[in-house]
Order: sequence, then structure tokens, then C-alpha cells
Amino acid sequence: MRPLASRMSVMSGEGALSVFARAKELEREGRSIIHLELGEPDFHPAPPVRDALERALDEGKDRYCSVPGVLALREEIAAYLKRTRNLNISPGSVVIAPGCKIGLFMALMALVEPGDEVLYPEPGFPGYPSITLGLGGVPVGFSLRERNHFQPDPDEIASKISSRTKAILTNSPNNPTGTVYTDGVQRRISELAIKHDLYVLSDEIYARIIYRDPYVSMMSYPGMKERTLIIDGFSKSFAMTGWRLGYNVAPPHIVPALEMLAVNSYTCVAEFTQYAAIEALRDPDGATPRMVGEFAARREQFVRDLNRVPGFRCAAPKGAFYAWVNIGDTGLSAEEVCRLMLEEVGVAAIPGAAFGPSGFDFVRFSFASSSATLKEAVDRIMQVSASWQSAPVRK
Ligand code: PLP
Repeated sequence: MRPLASRMSVMSGEGALSVFARAKELEREGRSIIHLELGEPDFHPAPPVRDALERALDEGKDRYCSVPGVLALREEIAAYLKRTRNLNISPGSVVIAPGCKIGLFMALMALVEPGDEVLYPEPGFPGYPSITLGLGGVPVGFSLRERNHFQPDPDEIASKISSRTKAILTNSPNNPTGTVYTDGVQRRISELAIKHDLYVLSDEIYARIIYRDPYVSMMSYPGMKERTLIIDGFSKSFAMTGWRLGYNVAPPHIVPALEMLAVNSYTCVAEFTQYAAIEALRDPDGATPRMVGEFAARREQFVRDLNRVPGFRCAAPKGAFYAWVNIGDTGLSAEEVCRLMLEEVGVAAIPGAAFGPSGFDFVRFSFASSSATLKEAVDRIMQVSASWQSAPVRK
């Protein structure tokens, strides 16, 4: 047989999905597993969203539809971004995609030439380097270090910009660290983008899941509207992971390229889910703030409890729903800690290296599970922690 395209050997999978597969296997064997590996809210879309879905189907909205997405949804997204991020964008700058990840894929596909460099946060979402590599680009990580409260260091970013740099990927709140970039950091990144004529791909999928200050989009800084692509979607903020619904907000000269990519791949996104998404954005019942309030309470409890586990150290994240735990003091590798937690006591979490090499000493836990489940998870981890308290010290 002739070989597959070489890009297949440079792309990589996601740690979360492989831990999930093993956890499911154990469940099939009858084991009780607490799933803290996937980034998936344990909520479902609110009743008005489900009602709107049914209504759309009753009305026959199940046909091929507009390539960039139905106009009513793009208008609603423009209104929503004005309301929640104080952005003034036109519906014509929105392109709907089947998931935020496809939005990211299309944005990179539209911009990256072989050899182009893309700066991305590390640790970060595994798709950033993988998709960039698949397109023949060169991913260049900038570090989110614990000693810097997992904030990007603009000086490091500046030092990594070269004549081949095409774009800076930002992700605030960040998966896996939960960092919300400070205004100072975002401003510096925007100044660098302007100075070096770079695009900023701002993955804002966790923008609504923040615990303190109002959200500030990368697009809102002076001079950034013409060079920022917002990548967002419904998976996290509206608990619609399985609906596969996301969108890009792009400068006018990039929109036709995104539409061209849509025509050549998915044609359009299911019409009925788009109509239901309008209702999600309007959120008449306040479902999103209620969910985020619940995450905030769990965050308090879970971070406090995790810090009681011998060898664990964890700061409260400012956004998203992940606890990013430094396990260096256990004396074991993160892989070994995760293996023990899963195999011995049935708690599934992800070794930090799945998010890049600087995640080596970390484990990511999702706290999108009930308080009782999170408490049970820590009780189980406490039991298994005896194995590392008695283990010889690594180094
Ligand atoms: N971007 C980040 C930072 C994520 O964490 C995720 C999902 O985990 C995505 C994008 C993908 O989102 P979607 O499910 O809408 O494709």
C-alpha cells in the first residue's frame, strides 16, 4: 500500500480522549469510575433551547442552508458579543462552524503556509500545535509558568517572533491552567501583533466561565479588529458539547476564505441547531450565569480539598473549570499519579504533559461534576496517596 499523507504522522491526538477510553474500559469491567478527564459541563441545554430545536424541526428547518450560517444566528451572535464583550461586530463577520475546533482548524488553514510560525500558549489545548503541524506550519510555544501565575510573558513572546511568524494564538481563560490573561498582558500582545503585522487567533471558548472580573476580548484593543479572529462556540458556555456548534468572527478580508473552506468541507451547519442556538444566546432563564455560579462553588471546594492531598499544590483558577495541580512533591511522575488514581481508585484525570512539555509535573482535573462527586473523588485520591507517601523520592 502507498503511505498515508505525511501530515498524519506529525499530528497528535488528545490525552483526554485516551484516558477517557481507558476509563470506559474499566467501567465495562464493572468498576466505579469518576470522570474528571473530559472538559464537558455536567449540565444540559436549558428548556428554551430544546423547545426551539423542536420548533425548528416542526417548521422543516432541516435543509441545506446558508454557508456562513443562518443570518438570524449571526445577528444574534453580534448582539451577544456586544452585550457580553462590548464588541461592535457585524453579522457578516461571523462564520458558523460545526464546533469551535473546526473554527480553529479553518482559521489556521486560511492563514498558515508551510514554514509559517504560529505562537501558542504552552501548556495549552493540544489542537494548537497539532493542527499547525498538520498544515506544514511550525508551532512555537510560549510558556505559562507557575511562578508567573500561568500568565504569558510578553517579553518571551517578543523574543520568539521571527520573520516567519504569522499569528499568535491566545486562549483566555486558558485550558488547562484556568488563567485569565491580565489587561497588561493582552495589551502587550496586541502591541506586538501590530508592530510585527501578525494575526491574533483568540480562542474565547471559556469567555463566559470566569469567576471575577468582566471578560475582555483580544479584539477590543486598539487596532486589533482588523487582525483578530475570535474562535468561540456553544460547547462550554451553553453546555452543548455534543451539538458541535462553534463560530469564527473574522476581519472582512478573511471571511470569504472561511466560507470557501466551509464550501469545500462541511457545506453548512445543521439548520435546526442554529435556530436553537439563538435561544441559547438569549438565555431567557439565565442558565449560563447559574451554571457558572455552580462551577464557582465547586471550584472553592475542590481546590481547597485537592490542596489537602499530600504532594498536591493547586491555585484557584480564574476561569474555565479545570484544576491544574502541581504533583511534583508526590515524588512520582504525573503519568504514574494518574495511573494510580485511575487503576487503584477509579478517578480519571489527565497527565499534564498532554498539554505540552511544561505540563510534565501537573495533572488536570475537570470540576464540571457535582460537589458530591468531587468530594468522593478527593476521598478516593486521599486513599491512594498512601502509595506516593511511601514511595522513594524521584529525582
Ligand atoms: N478550544 C479549547 C481551549 C478547548 O478546551 C476546546 C475543548 O475542549 C475546544 C477549543 C474545542 O471546542 P468544541 O467542542 O466546540 O470543538
